[in-house]
This record gives sequence, structure tokens and C-alpha cells, in this order.
Amino acid sequence: MRTPIIAGNWKMHKTVNEAVQYIETIQSNQLPQDVEAVICAPFLTLHTLQDKLAGSSIGLGAQNAHWEKEGAYTGEVSVHMLQDLGVGYVILGHSERRTYFAETCEQVNKKTIAALNAGIIPIVCVGETIQERESGRTFEVVSSQVKKALKGIASNELHKVVLAYEPVWAIGTGRASSANDAEEVIAYIRKTLMSEFGTAVAEQIRIQYGGSVKPENIATYMAEPNIDGALVGGAALDPESFSGLVKAA
Ligand code: PEP
Repeated sequence: MRTPIIAGNWKMHKTVNEAVQYIETIQSNQLPQDVEAVICAPFLTLHTLQDKLAGSSIGLGAQNAHWEKEGAYTGEVSVHMLQDLGVGYVILGHSERRTYFAETCEQVNKKTIAALNAGIIPIVCVGETIQERESGRTFEVVSSQVKKALKGIASNELHKVVLAYEPVWAIGTGRASSANDAEEVIAYIRKTLMSEFGTAVAEQIRIQYGGSVKPENIATYMAEPNIDGALVGGAALDPESFSGLVKAA
């Protein structure tokens, strides 16, 4: 049995005060305990949120991290620093980072390995562009991203990884993939995991769908056998909406 996981990606939104108000609202909303709820917040808010969430079942995540422990990497934050703060999750390889910051599959792989070594759960994003989909390359692109991201990871660590299938054309556009189409790609990802790492590991790895998920459509994704949760941007910015997503999952 895979525990469903709903992660909110705040992207570059919310000051510390706004973040605190948000957490107070979701804490007053009695979220179900059988769904893993995670807030992935900007670096500057993490210290305060870590205090605020102490003893809570809501997980805290970052949206990126550098694989080196420390060094001359101006502007970067290391996995080690997140570990020191007690951050439990980190989004890696989000399409916005791949597109705007030229993040490569090789870097995503180094970050994923570093996160696992630090005991942080990586939420690794993969997904095709609209051009790739329209030229019939979705399966090829997505399975290649998965294989590259997970290269060299010890088999006893792989089950901790969370994958997020996020078609680039569905992110922040209001044009969500249908649940059927998302299931088809996610089932293919699981098949890829089976042939690369064996059935036992493939059955354990959780795979989320992401791309214009809202409280109104999340149940359609959760009803699919291979979809284990959602990575949500826009609809996770409002605490009532995030609570609704977790309750509907
Ligand atoms: C995301 O940021 O990962 C995302 C899926 O955004 P949205 O839910 O706004 O499409």
C-alpha cells in the first residue's frame, strides 16, 4: 500500500508572515492523517515554518537544493543545510528550474542522490513539453528523465523517492491532463521502474500527477490505480484550497 502524498509547491510566493498565517489556517482545518501533506516553501520561510510545524503531521519541503555540502556556489542552498534545519522533502527538477535555470538531468541526479544521503525525501519532477507530446515522444522523454534522475541510486534507497509526472503544458495553464491520460503515462513510468529496478521497488515508489490540479478535479486522479497523489502549484497557494485538496485525496 502506497500512502497518498499531496505536496503544495508555493514557488516564489509568500513572505514569512504570509507563510505563518497560511500554516495557522491549515492547522485549524483538521487534515486527515492517512494522507501525507507537504508544504514546499521558499528557503527564507523554512526556518520559521519548521518551528511552526514542530510536532505536526504536515511535512515541510524546499523547492531546490545543491548537491555539494558547502562551497563557492553563490546563491545556492545545500541539501546539508536543509537537513540541519530538519526539512523533510525537496522538489527537484521542476520544469521551471529545467526551463529557466537550465537544470540538467545530470544535476537532478546529483541532487536526488544528495537528498537521499541526507535523509530528505526527493520529489523528482519529470514531464514532456507540448511539442514533445504532439510529436508522440511523451513516453520516451519521460522514461529517459526518470532513468537519468535515478541512475546509481542504491536499491534500498529507491523506494523513498517520490516521482511527480508534470506535463509542462499543464503546469499553471489551467489545462490539466485528463486523469486517463495522466494514468497512462504514470503506468508507463511504473513499467519503466519495473524493468530498471524490479517489481518490488516499482510497486513502492509513489508517483504524483501535477499540472492544474484543483480541489474540484483531484478525486479523478486519485481514483486511478497508479496515481499516488498530486504536486500542486496555484491551487496550493490558498490554505483552504490546500486543505480541500488533502481532504479530497
Ligand atoms: C507545479 O508548480 O508543480 C504545478 C503543478 O503548478 P500548477 O498546479 O499551478 O499547475
